[in-house]
Amino acid sequence: MDEHLNIAIDGPAGAGKSTLAKGIAKRLNIRYLDTGAMYRAMAMYAQKKGVAFADEAGIERIIGGADIRVVYDGRGQRVLLGGEDVTDGLRTEALSMGASSVSKHPCVRKKLAELQREVGRQYDVVMDGRDITTNVLPHTKHKFYVTASPEERANRRLKELRARGDETETYEHVLEELKKRDHQDSTRAFMPLKKADDAMLVDTTALSIEQAIELVMNAIAEKEAR
Ligand code: C5P
Repeated sequence: MDEHLNIAIDGPAGAGKSTLAKGIAKRLNIRYLDTGAMYRAMAMYAQKKGVAFADEAGIERIIGGADIRVVYDGRGQRVLLGGEDVTDGLRTEALSMGASSVSKHPCVRKKLAELQREVGRQYDVVMDGRDITTNVLPHTKHKFYVTASPEERANRRLKELRARGDETETYEHVLEELKKRDHQDSTRAFMPLKKADDAMLVDTTALSIEQAIELVMNAIAEKEAR
């Protein structure tokens, strides 16, 4: 059944999943699918429709019209919402919390997981998110759970914000928001974030990105050789 190489990566916000996943995809010359961007696009759609993120009945009512597609160009993954490229507006703090809220609703998770599985059926791909190892690609042999201490994750997120010119955000606030989102993601009733029993734990707290890539590449090669 494993016709295409599917690599699944889960973990909490700011653990370095996307940097790691992009590095692996580049080394293997395959696609990278950032599934969080799809949840962010869903939150943006709710916002555009004037439906509160937590309003499950409201989201159910509008979800049929949510046309979310992922395409690739020279810049990498682009997310289209109703045909419009919304990629550059997705990584805001408001849409981080919005995505975490809309992602609780089973109708949202079912719709997006099906789109993600379709990508896995069609392409060799590295996917990262919160339920890739447990729900989207449970049958792949390449599963990783990437984490780091909350303090380290908050530091990295703050650095990213500063690099983008944000001088007002504080370490304390970033840490608090991160913990709130961790809690929300790991305690939701439907498909919460958790480590799959057969996923390899990669703690990046004291690892450089190159070391983490090396670790994961070796694990992939070992499994492929079996
Ligand atoms: O990874 P990112 O921070 O962009 O994800 C935003 C939010 O989307 C997460 O906090 C999580 O609630 C949700 N998400 C999810 N399942 C995924 C990817 C993201 O529930 N596979």
